Parts: sequence; structure tokens; C-alpha cells
Amino acid sequence: MFRGWQKVSYIEYPGNIATVLFTGGCNFRCPYCHNPELVENYSIFPEIRAEEVLQYLEERKGLIDAVCITGGEPLLWKEELLPFLIKIKEQGFKVKVDTNGSSYSSFLSFEEIVDLWGIDYKVPLSSYHLVQGEKEIQSVREVLREALKFPEKVEFRTTIFPPFHQKETLRGMAEEIKSAHTWYWQNFNPFKTLDKEAQKVTPYSFSLLQKWQDEVNREVGKDLVVIRPS
Ligand code: SF4
Repeated sequence: MFRGWQKVSYIEYPGNIATVLFTGGCNFRCPYCHNPELVENYSIFPEIRAEEVLQYLEERKGLIDAVCITGGEPLLWKEELLPFLIKIKEQGFKVKVDTNGSSYSSFLSFEEIVDLWGIDYKVPLSSYHLVQGEKEIQSVREVLREALKFPEKVEFRTTIFPPFHQKETLRGMAEEIKSAHTWYWQNFNPFKTLDKEAQKVTPYSFSLLQKWQDEVNREVGKDLVVIRPS
């Protein structure tokens, strides 16, 4: 299940010191994905045993506050991940889980134990074919709807990729999640991508994103959009 491990992070769980685990594999294919090996070829990375992580955390109680699970798509590993996270909670750590929203039933299974969600909201719901997620669109819709019932527990996130996102696209997406607490925008980084063609795309300038951020926030009447460094 786990194919990467950043033992300490000061940014992944806001206000907390976290350890971050990366699961292998994903059912989407976002052209701009910056973790291509983890998505398509994760067996090249040695597997990290859950017992090793639990032992590490046991020895660091009071030093580490939270465990963040990212990927890949973590919820593909529901059968293994759920019992692991139950143990993590028993040890007293907070839990953050990232998801692309492709499995509503798994999302519901994890709802009780997750303290903070990172939910990808990739493109408008009518455009999920762009990330090869058209089969999962109903699930994504339901995950977004469910997550908006507890917005303080959710970070919505979008990688701003110029071929997919123009100002009007982002305004439309904002309308869908305007009751969210925070919607993080992360600028696309062409350095390493799942689709090599994506490396030819020039990211938007930071100042343009800031301008759009201001416009969207003004329209929704609050500081919904926060730009994260890429
Ligand atoms: S960006 Fe996320 S959802 Fe998209 S392919 Fe990469 S890991 Fe999967």
C-alpha cells in the first residue's frame, strides 16, 4: 500500500507536525500529475510496512501530531487503509486523507475517522473526461456534495492547468463549491508530468492567478481561494 514516506512535514496538516505516507496507484490520469511513477509504476518503490510506521509513531508521541495519507489515490486501498487508520487514531494522532473523489462508498467508510480531507476538484463536473475520470463522475459529484456538509474539515484543491482552466472555468467551479471553507489553487508545474506533452504548457503567471483569485473571492463574498506555492 505505502510506497513513499516523508517522515516530517510542517505544511501538510495546517498547524500540526505531520508524517506523510504515499500510496501507490491511481485510477485517474491527470496529464499534469507530478507523481507519474507513483501512479503508473509504483512497484519500483519498496513497500513500506504499516507496522514500521506504527512503531515510528509510537516512539514519537508528543512530537508528531498527525498522519497524512496521499497518493496516488489512497481510497483504492480501502481494505488495508481503514484498519491502519483506526490504529493510528487509537494511538492518538490526527488523520488527514487526500482523495480524487472517485469512490463515494469508500469516502463514506472513512468519514468517521478522518479529521481533515484533501479533496481534488479537478475540473468542472462536465469535464472529468479530461482526467480520464468520466466513469467516476457520479461519485465525484456525491463526494463534493457530502463534503460540503462539513466544510471546515475539508481542503478543496485544484491544480491550475492552462488547457483546462480559464477564468470562466474557475468562476463556474467556484459557484459549485462556494459554501466551502477553503479552495486551494496550486499552479501547474511543468517540470515533471504524467503526460510528456504537458511539459510544453506554460503555467499562468502568479500575478494573473492572484487577479483571478481576487475576482472569485469578491464574487463569492469571502476568502475562499487560497493560492499555494507549487
Ligand atoms: S494528480 Fe492525483 S488524481 Fe491525478 S493522476 Fe496524479 S495522483 Fe491521480
